[in-house]
Amino acid sequence: MSMENIEAIYPVGRLDRGLLVVGGNKRMYEFVGEYIYLPLYKMVLDKDVDRLKNAVSRCDLLAEGQSEEVEECVHFTDGKGGYDTYLVILRKVRNFDGYEIELQNVSENIRQIGKISSRLGMLRDYLTVSGGALFSYRPADGWFKLFWMDYEQEVEICDMPFGQWREQVIRDKQVSEKDRETFDSFCEAVKNGDQEQAYIFRGNMLNRGRNEETYRVKIQPRTYAGRKRVLGVWSVIRKRNGSRTEDYTEGNHLDSMTKILNRKGIMEYAEAKVAKGADAAVVMLDIDNFKNVNDTYGHPFGDAVITAVADVIKKVIGNSGVAGRVGGDEFMVILNNCGDELVLRNYLRGIKMNVGTLFPDRVGNNKITCSIGVSRSRVDSDDFKELYRIADKALYLAKEKGKNRYVIYKPELHGALRINEAKEDLTDIKEAFYSERDLNTFNRSLANLVLKGSGELPEVLEQMAHVLTVPRVQVFWGEERQCAAAWPLSLMEDSCDASCFEKKEYRELFQNDMLQIGNVNKLEYIMPEIYGMYRENHVCSILQHYLRDDKGEIRGFVTVEECSQIRGFPKLAMQIFESMCMVLNAVLLREEANANKALDK
Ligand code: GH3
Ligand code: MG
Repeated sequence: MSMENIEAIYPVGRLDRGLLVVGGNKRMYEFVGEYIYLPLYKMVLDKDVDRLKNAVSRCDLLAEGQSEEVEECVHFTDGKGGYDTYLVILRKVRNFDGYEIELQNVSENIRQIGKISSRLGMLRDYLTVSGGALFSYRPADGWFKLFWMDYEQEVEICDMPFGQWREQVIRDKQVSEKDRETFDSFCEAVKNGDQEQAYIFRGNMLNRGRNEETYRVKIQPRTYAGRKRVLGVWSVIRKRNGSRTEDYTEGNHLDSMTKILNRKGIMEYAEAKVAKGADAAVVMLDIDNFKNVNDTYGHPFGDAVITAVADVIKKVIGNSGVAGRVGGDEFMVILNNCGDELVLRNYLRGIKMNVGTLFPDRVGNNKITCSIGVSRSRVDSDDFKELYRIADKALYLAKEKGKNRYVIYKPELHGALRINEAKEDLTDIKEAFYSERDLNTFNRSLANLVLKGSGELPEVLEQMAHVLTVPRVQVFWGEERQCAAAWPLSLMEDSCDASCFEKKEYRELFQNDMLQIGNVNKLEYIMPEIYGMYRENHVCSILQHYLRDDKGEIRGFVTVEECSQIRGFPKLAMQIFESMCMVLNAVLLREEANANKALDK
């Protein structure tokens, strides 16, 4: 493009070496207006003058008449106190001692793009709240993609040739046998893609085999730039009232605060992704010293930090991964195609650095930081549970090493963590149980309890505390749930509001009468009352067991509390604790029956 043949929409003109206009189209003259006698430098914002000078010197380096040009973005004052962003294009012209300049106003484009993306965001949001999943079928190569999306992320449920997906659905019985025919017609309709149609069939394609749902699937053929696409909306119909519901909506798969996946959502996604053999990195991220943030600036600010960290993660990973909030201040991110460690490190560095820049005005030098642990499919394991465990340990290492860092798990650096569950339990047990002798002593005290009765309880509890390496064990028993035995003995004076520990929502946390909570902080938002009690007593982790009478009514409970650290209890420890509780329960019942008999007489 040269000036002669441009009756352009843009200002185009010739400027001398000092950037004074010496000729140009009508728009150029309109553009410079009263600045006509001043160099163009006068029209740009002060901070952009150097940038423009630099562009000019780059242009000087171009050979005359070359088709090359130099581009630079600068802000021109609009004379009214505002400014507009322009793309400045500089060219050299034959036989002219100066430059040809073209100015394209991009502010308008930026505004347009802003408008379009916010509209797109809104549309995506509508799609998320209005119905399950979406799919697209590309007739050209038969490719089928089933996915759902939220504001910024796209989460695929399946991404493969349509024929292969269809076979898989039938083979894995993801469609109800009764609705096979409808499903087949649906498949044919997708392939033909010539008219809008809706189908209703039962299956479990969206929830990956968990339970059968009824789907309403609407097909909408479209043409984009001459290419055919078959699009569709895949929604779940709730049986009872026939209304359409969404599988992927807040509460079910989405975290309502951060609008990224919740624990269930990300776990399901990750498991399916790894099961497919995808190249994926499992990233566990935990905000450092988050309790301090809450304590210093208050919970609402803590919430804002959690949301901001989720936003950072989303922005950094873009479409290369999917993020979820797995708990309080902890996130899991599945990054795709990170086989190249440099690529992976770039993402991790991006997340870490951007988290570090959050809320500078508020936190000053107490920067918000996070620790990250990473495992990789194909490299570390092909089993999601194991990858999760390894990433979690790598996160633990990152914390141990001083926080504000990421650790990509490497067996040669971090030792073999790839041990199966049974072995892992054994290593933990070594820490938890001092020696076989301790175990024997404990068993003997338990036998004494059976033989001699509840007088032996203090001894049993002491051994229990020793074996589990916990500072506190208490037994509550009887109508008033008074403390029947405790280690250390000073806890005997403790009273306990049993009604609290026997409330329905708390009872629901128990499995087979037993409860293990590694980190009681998880109760803070779901059961503030109980959390308050634990917090008051500096309890970090607990192990509890209900005691019942022969009719199955709760009569008391045993509680083991860890106060100095958050910890898990190995499986074997829990088994031992469970056996102790059962024996103790039997002994207490026996004594009660005997006492009643004596009373009757
Ligand atoms: P560390 O560096 O070892 O991770 O220490 P930390 O203080 O971050 O400890 P941890 O991760 O165990 O603490 C998480 C805290 O997050 C506990 C709980 O009070 C708080 N929390 C959990 N959920 C929420 C939430 O939704 N909002 C706010 N504001 N705080 C939460
Ligand atoms: Mg934390």
